[in-house]
Amino acid sequence: MMKAPAALEELITALRCLPGVGPKSAQRMAYHLLQRDTPGAQRLAQALGLALERIRHCEMCNSYTEEPVCALCRSPRRDATILCVVETPADLLMMEQAQCYQGLYFVLMGALSPLDGVGPREIHLDRLVKRAADGIVGEAILATNFTVEGEATAHYIGELLRAKGIKTSRIARGLPVGGELEHVDSGTLAQAVLERRDL
Ligand SMILES: [Zn+2]
Repeated sequence: MMKAPAALEELITALRCLPGVGPKSAQRMAYHLLQRDTPGAQRLAQALGLALERIRHCEMCNSYTEEPVCALCRSPRRDATILCVVETPADLLMMEQAQCYQGLYFVLMGALSPLDGVGPREIHLDRLVKRAADGIVGEAILATNFTVEGEATAHYIGELLRAKGIKTSRIARGLPVGGELEHVDSGTLAQAVLERRDL
């Protein structure tokens, strides 16, 4: 059987690290990049290299940034007494677009999902507790998704933070059950934050 050149095989294998990409689509992507879009392939390679080199987690909010502490966390205009806990950087962006919140954030980069092997350690809840217990944060708003994982995560974090004497609240259920922040409109999200209830 004819084998593809080693470098091509490696590219196909590498592309399979993307979610939802099986062997067939990885092969299609590799051929597309090499045959039809070499400038695109160059750009992709450079962007990947640059992102890996420069992007890191903000020391305060854990979101992606190119600096030790991101611009949002450094901003004097933000209310440092409230901390909003979200699952992903995309959720943070949604909150910002809803323009309903002036506090700071903590991005979990996931949610608890024991079946997938994601426990408190994997989403660095110790860092969140440390961050929230800085003596300035007075309230933590838990804005994880209304999915099974998101609810379990909010519940778990609520207990952790309350044990540290930090008031916790959960955004209101204006969001649909199973709802992900990323997919709701700004108005609904703003309402959910306004109507948050104490835990
Ligand atoms: Zn930050």
